[in-house]
Amino acid sequence: MTRKKLIAGNWKMNGSLEANEALVRALVAGLPAAAGHGKGAEAAVCVPAPYLAQVGPLLRGSDIALGAQDVSVHAAGAYTGEVSAPMLREFGPRYVIVGHSERRQYHGETDAQVADKAKAALAAGITPIVCVGETLAEREAGQTEAVVKRQLAAVIHVNGHCISEVVVAYEPVWAIGTGKTATPEQAQQVHAVLRAQLHAASTHDGRVRILYGGSMNAANAASLLAQPDIDGGLIGGASLKAPDFLQIIAAAAAA
Ligand code: PEP
Repeated sequence: MTRKKLIAGNWKMNGSLEANEALVRALVAGLPAAAGHGKGAEAAVCVPAPYLAQVGPLLRGSDIALGAQDVSVHAAGAYTGEVSAPMLREFGPRYVIVGHSERRQYHGETDAQVADKAKAALAAGITPIVCVGETLAEREAGQTEAVVKRQLAAVIHVNGHCISEVVVAYEPVWAIGTGKTATPEQAQQVHAVLRAQLHAASTHDGRVRILYGGSMNAANAASLLAQPDIDGGLIGGASLKAPDFLQIIAAAAAA
């Protein structure tokens, strides 16, 4: 099955009303040339929650989808500081990142919570981008496969056949924001493991896109995206610079 490549920007905790407007206007203006009028690759920007209300209208009429960066497992109630999936839905995001390694690492999110977040997003009609990935210590201990399989298994366990509705992002923790990228072969090896796991879990696994994330940039995107099981990218730092992000989208459209 041919899967349309997806390039999703993760702005993390960056931006301002002024900077967002300039960035989004540049992306919207540059997208048709980069993505072949949206036919070759899909693009999205996952923005901090307070900016959903600003960026949504700026993207309207473009082929760039809106995304959020996290979601609560709860629908409403006494959970100070959290944002629920029904609240997100009011701003129309197509995607929400769940289980980013920064959430797992700094906020102690467990595999089970990540799985519940994916479920909450799906129940609200928002596609979760489920992040999995090993730390450097885990890679060096030969545990990469076991770690990513455990993380994805939790999401499959809780979401059953709905697993075909998610996007998966393989993000080796040692490659995020470090300038160290997995080689295309290293990434492909893990993607193939995840693809096989999805295949065993769902008859509709062919539609699930598996993105690579971890210092993907304009220079290395094409070789990563040429791998058979790399269906796009989750882009942190390079998504904050319009020319870089557009070049990655162009590489995906051409792959
Ligand atoms: C990310 O935040 O998901 C990410 C991959 O970051 P970076 O591209 O900066 O490594």
